[in-house]
Amino acid sequence: MHTPLCCHAVGRPVDYAAHALKVGLREIGFSDHAPMPRDDFDDWRMKSSELDEYVEMVREAQRDFPQLSIKLGLEVDYIPGYENWIRDLAARHPWDYFIGSVHYVDEGWDIDNPKKLSHWKQHDPDEVWELYAARLTQAAASGLFESIGHMDLAKKFCIYPTKPLVPMFDTFLRTAAAKGVAIEINTAGLRKDCREIYPSQSLLKAAAAAGVKIVFGSDAHAPEEVGLNYTEALQAAKLAGFLECQQFSSRNTSSSAITFR
Ligand SMILES: [Zn+2]
Ligand SMILES: [Zn+2]
Repeated sequence: MHTPLCCHAVGRPVDYAAHALKVGLREIGFSDHAPMPRDDFDDWRMKSSELDEYVEMVREAQRDFPQLSIKLGLEVDYIPGYENWIRDLAARHPWDYFIGSVHYVDEGWDIDNPKKLSHWKQHDPDEVWELYAARLTQAAASGLFESIGHMDLAKKFCIYPTKPLVPMFDTFLRTAAAKGVAIEINTAGLRKDCREIYPSQSLLKAAAAAGVKIVFGSDAHAPEEVGLNYTEALQAAKLAGFLECQQFSSRNTSSSAITFR
């Protein structure tokens, strides 16, 4: 879940927490877009100097809602070459978890950015998807993250590869399983053009077969998006054969049984 510091989300963590209680969640986690070394890297993340303010906002929600478990995390962009920066971020606060997300397939192209849709027209979708999957594999292998965000984000604008999807992510899934890195069942995809949870059901089934663990996420950018479509996420997990999900505390991972309702 996000905060206004990333410049494209609304509502304070206390508002997200209040909504979480309203919809019956017992645990939530904040994972706003982590800063990059250069504040002008792009226009959709907090500045480096705002990291302490972010942590304080989450602490405020923890203080105001002691009946709710609220985890402190970050959604960190995985771009090869930034590993030391990510380690530096990790050392700055007592985080519960880092989500490693690939948005950038090169430094100038965040593939989910609607302002850069023209880039898609200049590239072969198969190549973009393959590059995306390769970066996910690197992220999973890096040891820098507890989970990997929206593994098929490349489908956001309904631009699909001609090659079959599942084999494309095989190396990634095997790496994630071997490294004990979870993937998200992220419902934000339902709110995008692709109108589908990240990842698709076929990839989720392949993840279960590979022994990859899961976490649930709404990727909320507004309080009313907290827990949105959770029922569909549970259904997707059940259909793929998952019985448990992961929880993160102080950058340690534990499993708990999924309560299907
Ligand atoms: Zn965002
Ligand atoms: Zn993301």
